Amino acid sequence: MYAKSLTKNIQAKRTPLIIERDYPDGEEQVCCFCDQRFIKDHISWKKTWEHLDNNDENQELWNLAWAHFDCNEKKRTDPDSQIRAHEKIKQNKRWEKTYDFEYASEKKKNNDADEATEIDLNVAHRQIALEFLAEKLPNESEKWNFNDAISCIVLRCEKKTNHGSKQSIRNYLDVQACTEGKYRKEKISGTTYIMWRTGQ
Ligand SMILES: [Zn+2]
Repeated sequence: MYAKSLTKNIQAKRTPLIIERDYPDGEEQVCCFCDQRFIKDHISWKKTWEHLDNNDENQELWNLAWAHFDCNEKKRTDPDSQIRAHEKIKQNKRWEKTYDFEYASEKKKNNDADEATEIDLNVAHRQIALEFLAEKLPNESEKWNFNDAISCIVLRCEKKTNHGSKQSIRNYLDVQACTEGKYRKEKISGTTYIMWRTGQ
């Protein structure tokens, strides 16, 4: 048994596919009956879920589209709208035959995985940066050339993770050396050093 009512869960699942099917390449979303735009919260022109075959319990993708509230109401009694809905069902079924669902879900999985990897890398790089600072600056009497610290940390990141960006490490060290951070930067004879922030 499938869920008979159009639950939020089903809406969430169908939404990206309806966008891909009916409004590809970022096309503006319009009503499937009158081709006019939707107006959010407008009593007549807001977007509603249209059940093309008039069966509100049929939540198959091919049976769902987006229409104005009014157009959705009007369709119940309007023969022209009925014909248009019938045509749309045929179109939708054709689309499903050619649309590569498997490829699309693979693509999404890969994108998600890439995003996760990027977050993991950021975490690893920050850890490497903190370890470097702890190692080179064990106490408040030590200081280290700021630019060299960046290069050394990037080198360690590249060795450990095969990735490393000077800009992101520089940004991270800048954060660590902010006025509320454990460290501070100081220019001595034209060279910038990083050291403990103490006695302030
Ligand atoms: Zn409409």
